[in-house]
Amino acid sequence: MNVLIAEDDAPSRRMLQSMLTKWGYTVTAVADGDEAWRILEEARQESLVILDWMMPGIEGPEIVRRMRAKEDANQHYIIIMTSSSTEDAAALALDAGADDFISKPFNSNELRARIAVGHRVILLHQALMDKLHKLEAASEIISRLAGTDALTGLHNRRSFSEHFTMAASAARRNGYPLSLISIDLDHFKCVNDTLGHNVGDLVLTEFSTLIAAMLRAEDMAARWGGEEFVILLSHSDENAAAALAERIRSSFEQTQNSAAPLPTTASFGVAELRGGEEEQELIKRADLALYRAKHEGRNRVVLSGSNYSAHSPPPKVPSS
Ligand code: GH3
Ligand code: MG
Ligand code: MG
Ligand code: MG
Repeated sequence: MNVLIAEDDAPSRRMLQSMLTKWGYTVTAVADGDEAWRILEEARQESLVILDWMMPGIEGPEIVRRMRAKEDANQHYIIIMTSSSTEDAAALALDAGADDFISKPFNSNELRARIAVGHRVILLHQALMDKLHKLEAASEIISRLAGTDALTGLHNRRSFSEHFTMAASAARRNGYPLSLISIDLDHFKCVNDTLGHNVGDLVLTEFSTLIAAMLRAEDMAARWGGEEFVILLSHSDENAAAALAERIRSSFEQTQNSAAPLPTTASFGVAELRGGEEEQELIKRADLALYRAKHEGRNRVVLSGSNYSAHSPPPKVPSS
């Protein structure tokens, strides 16, 4: 444990230094308040500080006051030492922010015991800080997990909703386009029924990896539930969103899924946020477009409001 001693009286300073060194502390001794303040300002670690009340440069109580005013310096344990016979000296030192006070001439046993208290307090504070940092790290992990879909690693519905609200209000405020793609895998029940639930899970994961790889940093993909997904595209109008949906559709169709010998495809509904429209209405319009994509034969992209499929390849999947 480091101890800083600031004492202008040379014999006292040397005596303190030799006692503390004997007790196992690492001592830095200075003769004036300016030097003590300079060291404390630069200190990165908590230490024990013994300050003489009266010395050249900044005096002990003023150093304490300045230390306590600094937000990051409250961890030092500061003892003020004085030969002042003023009755109020102890109260003044403690009121200034010192942790303890000792009168000169001091009893070496008492000084040793008081410094040991300071040492304990610093260790306790360090242990507390260590726990706090671990807790902060754990809470960061928990809140990330709370927003993550366990199977696919995409955002979950709850995380999507939070993000959606913010993205929609930013788009309205700044007048840029915001589009939503609603996705549903085709005949997925058939994949599960034919190949088993585990293979179904693998298809969901592979589809998620595929869409995650095709997004820009400002886009967001989430698993809405089951075999349904949503993608939110900031700064993208419906045509850009439909073009992305088509790239995903075609890429998924061409992917010979490693686990599923069956062709796997998906249907897409696309809608762009309109002026004055609520988030729920946008979701509804994207879902309606998705419903139409299903109705028109699946494995296609349909734009909300259009009376034709934006992209409608011949259906490749038998309808169930
Ligand atoms: P459609 O083309 O009309 O969407 O047909 P579908 O079979 O995909 O639709 P349906 O709603 O009938 O079935 C969805 C299936 O998705 C049924 C359900 O078992 C499956 N499913 C939902 N969540 C999961 C999951 O986490 N893992 C697996 N393996 N299957 C899931
Ligand atoms: Mg002095
Ligand atoms: Mg579905
Ligand atoms: Mg489906």
